[in-house]
Amino acid sequence: MEFLSQKAINLHQGAIRAMFDRAAGMEHVISMGIGEPDLTTPELICRAGMEALRKGVTHYTPNAGTQSLRRAIAELSSLAPVSYDPDGEIIVTNGGMGALSLLFLVILESGDEVLIQDPQWLNYVAQVQYCGGRAVRVPTKAAEKFAMAPAEIEARITPRTKALMINSPNNPTGEILPLERLEQIATVAKKHDLLVISDEVYHTLSYTDERYHSIAELPGMKERTVVIDSFSKSYAMTGWRIGYAAGSRRIIDRMTKCQENFNACANAPGQYAAEAALHHPELCLEIREVFAERRKLMLEGLRQVPGIRCGNAEGTFYLFPDVRQYGLDSTAFCQQLLEEEQVVCIPGSAFGECGEGHVRMSYTSAEPQLLEALQRLARFCEKRI
Ligand code: PLP
Repeated sequence: MEFLSQKAINLHQGAIRAMFDRAAGMEHVISMGIGEPDLTTPELICRAGMEALRKGVTHYTPNAGTQSLRRAIAELSSLAPVSYDPDGEIIVTNGGMGALSLLFLVILESGDEVLIQDPQWLNYVAQVQYCGGRAVRVPTKAAEKFAMAPAEIEARITPRTKALMINSPNNPTGEILPLERLEQIATVAKKHDLLVISDEVYHTLSYTDERYHSIAELPGMKERTVVIDSFSKSYAMTGWRIGYAAGSRRIIDRMTKCQENFNACANAPGQYAAEAALHHPELCLEIREVFAERRKLMLEGLRQVPGIRCGNAEGTFYLFPDVRQYGLDSTAFCQQLLEEEQVVCIPGSAFGECGEGHVRMSYTSAEPQLLEALQRLARFCEKRI
């Protein structure tokens, strides 16, 4: 008797995990593969978490999260330019991933299509498929900073298209969608009556002078957008598992019902700590400063590597350089780099066909390791040019 469902059997190991498995057991490995800050959570937030435990915040919270955290999210997070009612339009979840999975569970009927950029962090695809939907990839071009073109989106819309995902700043490309492109995408969404899922978990990691713009701020978009956000990347809180979604009352209500049945609520002391974090935006600015310095170092270092072409990705902690000069596909490039120089990067093809020819490099290690990784990379590339 097979006890597993076919869709569980179909879940496969991602290419990112495969690179880490290859690296396990090797010595002197430097990882530029990791998708989370290496920094630990700021002390002030940890203290708030400990205080919560001491005060007995060890029980279930309301399914949508504590009211005070929802209120703080509405007033103090990047959602603030749009007015969200903390009672009904915001739900606190188990990280951004928890928000995404609840959302797909409540919106997708079997065969519904969700448009997803190519290249893109692949958990979206796995989640959509697990919830019975079809992930339809929208190809992009490196020359256009991997921004989805409105015509490419429209060309893939069918009567089954329900939603369009955007993720800016983007994993894996590090690129930020300019306001103008957000406006064009909003026009397409309104014309074709699509829900927009805007994953903004990297919004504090932006290295431009421009204020961050959410697509939900644009005219007529609040009601057709679900914003996904999280404390993971902005406050170095990945392990606390606190994220949230903001959207229409109808959708948030069903997500809350789903959360009630599947996991009750997000981690209670974590919610308490997250609320403290929101009162200290200077903490995420400090984290951003660390990554801004490393980004500068990486961009300068990559300019010295013969053959690598790297854009100025203005967000996240990823760079997505073009490695086509070396006559290897991105998987072979990463495998050989690991074997010869013990540096982990992630092949661009792991994020979709349009990522081929590129590799994702995270600058989530301290500067001395990044400098060493750049030297090893240069040695590897010089041999192949
Ligand atoms: N969205 C994107 C694009 C991500 O890269 C990640 C994590 O890597 C997440 C969402 C989810 O993060 P978390 O569940 O830790 O909030």
